[in-house]
Amino acid sequence: MRVALDVPLLDVFDYRSTSPVPIGSRVIVPFGRRKLVGIVVATPQRPALAPEQIKDIDQFLDDTPPMPADWIRLASFAANYYQRPIGEVMLPALPHGLRKVLAYQGKRSAGGPVKRIDRRKTPVTASCQSDSVPMLNDEQSGAAKGIAALQGHKTVLLYGVTGSGKTEVYLHAAQAALARGRQVLFMVPEINLTPQLEQSLRARLAGTGDPGTLAVMHSGLADGERLQAWLRVQRGEARILLGTRLAIFAPMPDLGLIIVDEEHDSSYKQQDGLRYSARDLAVWRGRDRDVPVVLGSATPSLESWNHAERGHYQRYTLARRAREVELPKVRLVDTRRLAMQEGFSPHLVKALGERLERGEQSLIFLNRRGYSPVLNCASCAWVSSCPRCTAYTVLHRAGSRRNQLQCHHCGYQARVPHACPDCGDQDLKPMGRGTQRVEEHLAELFPTARIARIDADSTRLKGSAAALFAKVHAGEVDLLVGTQMVAKGHDFANLGLVGVLNADAMLFAQDFRAPERLFAQLMQVAGRAGRHVRGGEVIIQTDYPEQAVYQALIKHDYPGFAKYGLAERDAVGLPPYAFQALLTAEAKQLPIAIDFLKHARGLPAEYPDDYTTASAITVYDPVPLRVVRVANIERAQLLVESTNRPALQAFLTVWSYALGDLARRFRVRYNLEVDPLEI
Ligand code: ADP
Ligand code: ZN
Ligand code: ZN
Repeated sequence: MRVALDVPLLDVFDYRSTSPVPIGSRVIVPFGRRKLVGIVVATPQRPALAPEQIKDIDQFLDDTPPMPADWIRLASFAANYYQRPIGEVMLPALPHGLRKVLAYQGKRSAGGPVKRIDRRKTPVTASCQSDSVPMLNDEQSGAAKGIAALQGHKTVLLYGVTGSGKTEVYLHAAQAALARGRQVLFMVPEINLTPQLEQSLRARLAGTGDPGTLAVMHSGLADGERLQAWLRVQRGEARILLGTRLAIFAPMPDLGLIIVDEEHDSSYKQQDGLRYSARDLAVWRGRDRDVPVVLGSATPSLESWNHAERGHYQRYTLARRAREVELPKVRLVDTRRLAMQEGFSPHLVKALGERLERGEQSLIFLNRRGYSPVLNCASCAWVSSCPRCTAYTVLHRAGSRRNQLQCHHCGYQARVPHACPDCGDQDLKPMGRGTQRVEEHLAELFPTARIARIDADSTRLKGSAAALFAKVHAGEVDLLVGTQMVAKGHDFANLGLVGVLNADAMLFAQDFRAPERLFAQLMQVAGRAGRHVRGGEVIIQTDYPEQAVYQALIKHDYPGFAKYGLAERDAVGLPPYAFQALLTAEAKQLPIAIDFLKHARGLPAEYPDDYTTASAITVYDPVPLRVVRVANIERAQLLVESTNRPALQAFLTVWSYALGDLARRFRVRYNLEVDPLEI
């Protein structure tokens, strides 16, 4: 039999078993001096090795049913598409307890860690407490009915402005699937941000008195909890799986609907190991299982929007907010000719004062934590920088990191020097501002206001983020300063004003997706304002008010922005009009990384003539990363592009095979990422 193992060499290995073992089963096999858990992926007639070279399996693990055929198809697709050995896809997708040999030692007869329970298949009759369930408006019910009526696979893009009530549509669609006796996979970017969603699912769909029909899966779970969730879903006991990106690999025998909320969110992309997009895999899985997939967002990815424009996806639009509140008014403050005070325009200060007087909350959004991004000597050219990275060290003044310089790339920390290390001058000045400095300035401007800061630093301790948010919800905070952490999901009842500082920095990031990301982020933080109070307002300070992103924001015009963005991408041949892969190399010295990439670039020329697709592929020159050195490792990358996805896939399959040898020769670490989000 052929067994997939999580080892970085080949994908599959041949073993022998005296009794038949079904495909999809887990087995323990000897591998070198170790024993490993593997998954049987095939039982070929003729093994690849000579009989005397084939070892026996150690143990056939029948404590769980074999992984189903569709799960093996999904893993195989992911392995092929993302150019990884199948074992490196399959085994990490399993909960810890199912892939570790340790769990079984000394328990050979007891059947491992798992008790077998009969699978129940009772359809769930959802109970709705009518008092808490709003009547759907026309747009919502059109979408919900349309989705519920779908037979077989279709990808639906649910485009709904913030507060338009997408959740209600998901709930109704899910209810219909449950009523047909099917399971629902409900994916969210981050679970901690949506505690209300879990409650709604439990109350509305899980069926009264039977909370067991909902399972939750995310990386924050303990091993045992994740295993239990996995097994309950696999056995069909859990009918709804609410989870983050890793939930895409849960086996679901009765899968009937997949929902991907905030489908544009970059959290769906795994950034190490198998660099998959759970959103894209969801669409593939829905097609493979012939079930509908709902992608929802107020700011869909341009990829998904393009599919909808071309009619590949069915689009439903929720154009209005569900509650009787208008979308907030977005105002641009042109900061070019204004006298700014610590980054604040007079307009913003005045607006903050007015909201305070009215007893409303305000949020200052700034995507930069710390006190200031760099410390600088007033008399010479010294700037604080990390000894291990090509990056400045950030000044921190608040909390446990009081008066420290900290590298946000590698974690390096140092005390703030008393004087300039180069010239001895004691006049060291913080340059620019982060959330801590903004918080300090707000305290000077509004001495009696209650101010809170929510960023990665202020929420380091377990439970502290929840505690801070609770204070905001309880009305114990007047002014909130925060990074992207506050932008997502939260429904602040009394928030009237959002001020955005330093958005331009995000606009001019190198990445071609920067404007798309900025638009989504600003729409999302704008969506925090005026959800319940009337007259919500967003003030964006910018030096470039004429930029398309900002112009579209004033009008809440995602379709307009998307049209512009897609035209721009089309003109220069960027995704979604082209497909990309990114090869990143890491080495102690930059020339080695670059040299490796140059050789990698030259590889296609060595391929024989039957390699027909090369003409459709562009392989660009290697370039160092913008932050080239992190923790003393130099990094460079190489972009591969094609307008033809199958051609790119064929190329990558051959190429990735050759890269392994090349990397060993050059002694570089590398990774190949298909459909990279950041370049
Ligand atoms: P979205 O996810 O689209 O941003 P939500 O699903 O969070 O929006 O809904 C926004 C608010 O509107 C929620 O408080 C929700 O309870 C409420 N809501 C949803 N649908 C309706 C409706 N049909 N009538 C009244 N309120 C609704
Ligand atoms: Zn100096
Ligand atoms: Zn560093």
